[in-house]
Parts: sequence; C-alpha cells; structure tokens
Amino acid sequence: MTDLSQLTLGERPGGRTALRADWVLGHGDNGHQLIRDAEVVIEGGKVLFIGQRFGGEVARRIDMGRSLISPGLIDLDALSDLDTTILGIDNHPGWAKGRVWPRSYVESGPYEMYSPEELAFQKRYAFAQLLLNGITTAAPIASLFYREWGETVGEFNAAADAAGDLGLRVFLSPAYRAGGMVLEAPDRMEPVFDEERGLAGLADAVAFIGAQSGRHDGLVNGMLAPDRVETCTETLLRRTDDAARDLGVRFRLHMAQGTMERDVVQRLHGHTAPGWLASLGLLSDRLIAPHATVATDADLELYARHGVSVVHCPLVSCRGGGSALRSFAGLKARGINIAMGTDTTPPDMLLNLLVGLIAARIVEGGPQGASSADLWNAATLGGADALGRPDLGRLHVGGPADISVFGLDDPVMTPAIDPITTLVAGGSGKVTRAVFVNGRLSMANGQVAGLDLEKAQSRAQAQYDGVVAKYPERSWGHPPLAEIFPPSFPMAKDT
Ligand SMILES: [Zn+2]
Repeated sequence: MTDLSQLTLGERPGGRTALRADWVLGHGDNGHQLIRDAEVVIEGGKVLFIGQRFGGEVARRIDMGRSLISPGLIDLDALSDLDTTILGIDNHPGWAKGRVWPRSYVESGPYEMYSPEELAFQKRYAFAQLLLNGITTAAPIASLFYREWGETVGEFNAAADAAGDLGLRVFLSPAYRAGGMVLEAPDRMEPVFDEERGLAGLADAVAFIGAQSGRHDGLVNGMLAPDRVETCTETLLRRTDDAARDLGVRFRLHMAQGTMERDVVQRLHGHTAPGWLASLGLLSDRLIAPHATVATDADLELYARHGVSVVHCPLVSCRGGGSALRSFAGLKARGINIAMGTDTTPPDMLLNLLVGLIAARIVEGGPQGASSADLWNAATLGGADALGRPDLGRLHVGGPADISVFGLDDPVMTPAIDPITTLVAGGSGKVTRAVFVNGRLSMANGQVAGLDLEKAQSRAQAQYDGVVAKYPERSWGHPPLAEIFPPSFPMAKDT
C-alpha cells in the first residue's frame, strides 16, 4: 500500500506534492517515454516536474511503489448509463430483444423509462466507474432506446455538476436526433424522421454548451453529440457542423458502424455514411466518428484526407463476433487519428486495450497488427488530439495534472515486465490505485469523492432491474421477459 492517506480525497493538495513510482510515462519530442524510478511533482492543477529526482522543496513525498504513473486515460465513447447491450450478449437477434422500437410501441407513445433523478444518478455513478478505471477525460455516451426521444438539458446540467463534484474532465452536451428506426415486421426496419425535433435538440445542446462550458475549473467542456448518422438529416448535420465551428467544439457522430446503418444510408442518400458527409463537405477535424468497423477503403481515405478521428471500441465491437476495426494498423498507416472508447460495461479501458490488441493482431494475422504502446497512445494522445487538446493525454511540465497510477505488484498482474505491456496484457482496470484530475485527488484505492459506491451500486441495480422489466413493452410481439432474456442454463425446478 501507499501513503496516499496524506491526501484528502476530492481535494487538491496544498503546496507541492511529489509522486514517486518505479515507472513514470513522461513525454518527449517523439511521444511518450518511460522513466525508471522517477517522480512527478504537481502544484495546484499543474505538473511542475517530471524526472528522476526533483531538487526543490516539496510539501510531501508520496511513494506509489511498484506502479506506473501515467497520463490519465481518455474515453471518447464513455459509458454513462446502465448498459443494456450486455443483455444482448447471449440473446439475439437485436430486433427481437427490444433493441429496435416496434411500430406498436411507437404508436402507443414512447416514454421516458427512467425519471430525471434516475438519469442524473446514472451519470454520476458512471463517472465514478470511469475514475475507478483510470479514466480522467470522458465524452459520455448512452443508449436512447429507453428514452422518449433525445437526452435533456436537465440531466446534463446534473451531469456537469457530477463531473465537478467527482473531479472528472468531460466533453459533453445532450444527444439529439432527427429520426429513428422502426421495426415494421420481423427483421424489417424503416427510418422515420422528425427534423424539427432534431433541430430543437441541437438548439438545446448549443445553449447547454454556452451555459456550462468552462465550469468547475475548466472540467466541463462542450462537444455536440448527434446520435447516429442514420437518424440525422442533411439540414441537422449542416447546422451541427456550423454550430461546432462557431462554438469551437468537436461533434461526435456514430457512423460506418454497422450493416443496418450502411444499408439505410445507401438507400436514402446513395452513399456510405462517410461518402455522404464528404459529398456535403462535412468531413473535417471537427468530426469524431465511432466506430468505423464497416468503413470501406474509400471511406478511410476520406477520413485520412479530412482529418476525421475514429473512436475505437474493441470490447463492444468484437463481443458480438461480427465486427472489428479493419484494421488498426491500416488506419495508423493512413495517418488516421485513433482514439479509444469503452462504450459498454464494464467501462474498463485496460480490458478494452487488451481486446484491441488481440483483435488488431487477428485481423492482420500477426503481431504487426498493433503493439501495447499503439493502444496506450490511442487511449491518451489519440483522444487528446481528437478533442483538439494537445495539453491532455501526456505528462508534460506546465500541463494539467491529469494522472492515473496503475499498480504493477497486484496479484492479478504479477509477474510484471515492461509496465505498458504488463498493463495491456493484464487487461484489468482493477489495478488503478489513484487518479488525479486537474491536480485534485479524484480516486484513491477504490473510493471516489461525492459518492458512496456501496449504496450507489444497489441503487443502480434496482434502477436497472426496473428498466429490464419494461422490455416486453418495446419488444416485437411483446413476449414475456423470460422469453426475451431466457437464463443461460435451464433453471432448476422450484427456484
Ligand atoms: Zn458507440
């Protein structure tokens, strides 16, 4: 254990604090560099020194022992609700399992399946989980399946306050959409549009960013979040890009992520999604585009030419068995910036990096597919570059003290070799010992400020059980719950 007890959770320590560890990941002219037996000194919200031994006076020295002091991880598709995709791990196809609204549910009037308080709580709980996993910067994502339509300003005002209370750097605004997919018959989905509703959502998001950006000591930042390309119209996308330019923010749009989307966009617009946006002049470095798993070579050429960043979420992409990024090495060779996203539960970036390493190598047929350092770069520098924030994702003197400390002497990690290889191969964020954001101690030894995790866990489970119970209402034919989600093994009699 370490003597982190010298610090108060949720507070920025006064004076200078030197954090020592067996390994520090610093940053030089050519990217990250490892420093053995080194320390990082923080003062206020900034990094004052990185190197083997600071000569100046410090208020305290904290020895983190056999661990890695790393720049905090950046998650640009950061799970921010109670994830429903896990219900589909062993239950499919998605259209039969409540993942597309049937016509009957649309006609009976979709409604909010969670209360405003529940939505606010979920984001706070999700932000805590991100910190537990060493994530210091997050762009939240949530499913709209259980929503009446889009996300609301009220829940995002609460999310901004949660980010401030917990100490997490966020880029966000309520997600909006101009349409949705409706299940007209088994396995037959049709898009329906309501553009006015989408434009109203954009206006709300712009107002939210105007009111919230810069709050909580700069932890709250704007990012526009139109939901997914097949639920957007040309006008909504044009106005989104204009607003992003005016506000100086990025916009995130899911595209080239699935065959249903590919077919719908082809039918409506005669292009792939990247081709459609290119024809509208809407591809630029303002666009952050998860997941690119069905991107063609021509799509990737467009991304490369226009500076689009891809958010790579290998755990959720690969778990279904049907899609993987093709390929990590191919995007890298084209010079496309790759950021990372967790996008599912568990929101464990180290597990995500391990799956990313494995998937990249299977796709390329060997270790040339990706290295551990490639994945670590994506989870730090790639995210920062996608956001246009070169001050983030790297530890440098004068930069913000956004730091994650990962234990290398944890039983789940032993024996440790190179620290980056060890943490990627270990594949578990459970070894995260401490997280500093803006110089403040946001997580230490599994605890966060501003939330009792034990109580929060039971509250989250109760909310989740409640929404699962509502699945029959929005599943095709409205079968009972036990038919939508049968048990993995047959249930024993009398249980
Ligand atoms: Zn996603």
